[in-house]
Amino acid sequence: MPARTDSVPDQQLADALLLARRGQAYFSRKLNELRDDEFDAPSLLPGWTRRHLVAHVGYNARANARLVEWAATGVETPMYASPTQREDEIEFGATLPIEALRNLSAHAAVHLNVEWRDLTEEAWSHEVRTAQGRLVPVRETVWMRTREVWIHAVDLDNGGTFRDFPNELIDALLEDLVKVWRRKRGPADRNVVLEPVDRDRAYRILDEADSDALVVRGDAVQLVTWGTGRGSAGVLTADGEPAPTAPTWL
Ligand code: ZN
Repeated sequence: MPARTDSVPDQQLADALLLARRGQAYFSRKLNELRDDEFDAPSLLPGWTRRHLVAHVGYNARANARLVEWAATGVETPMYASPTQREDEIEFGATLPIEALRNLSAHAAVHLNVEWRDLTEEAWSHEVRTAQGRLVPVRETVWMRTREVWIHAVDLDNGGTFRDFPNELIDALLEDLVKVWRRKRGPADRNVVLEPVDRDRAYRILDEADSDALVVRGDAVQLVTWGTGRGSAGVLTADGEPAPTAPTWL
């Protein structure tokens, strides 16, 4: 019998699922606030209309659901069947009638949620492969989806803001920024140290002391906005200069 509630191995995952679901609700609310004739306008992402963005968020739920199905069945179902599938389906999705785009968004979100809900406690540690080729426990899909729904709700550009994000999400994003930068960092790339003035700790790519590091300050929300490439308002270097462009995150 399918479960009616989550079967999660720990409270941390239960909390993470709650944050993902709140993010989905936030994205859906901002989407529902858009009239049909507002879908053709640009999103905050270069080159993408709101149509592209809504299609992307819907297909992203499906791609994450494929990973959860993989964990549930043991049968490998990759996020994307080919390197071009992701881009191709976004281009296609952007041409759908608005009603179909709204349905894609809603149905894909429900499907992913059902896959999470029905996953057994043991299956949550099953390894799956991300679109970048990393092997990760399937619980990572919860965070992958969390980032998408919250941030793309802001990218819809109809009033969503990082200021709406819960503190625990801002903290998790600060952690994620330096973690992803650490993974992607080339030998010539500078260390970056995020010093949120409203937190009692710093977030750094490298732990060791480094006099060449780029130290940036602002409040935690401003640093997340900067680090995710969504604007640099209020973010200054240790010398009080405007911060340069952040390293690429996702
Ligand atoms: Zn995305």
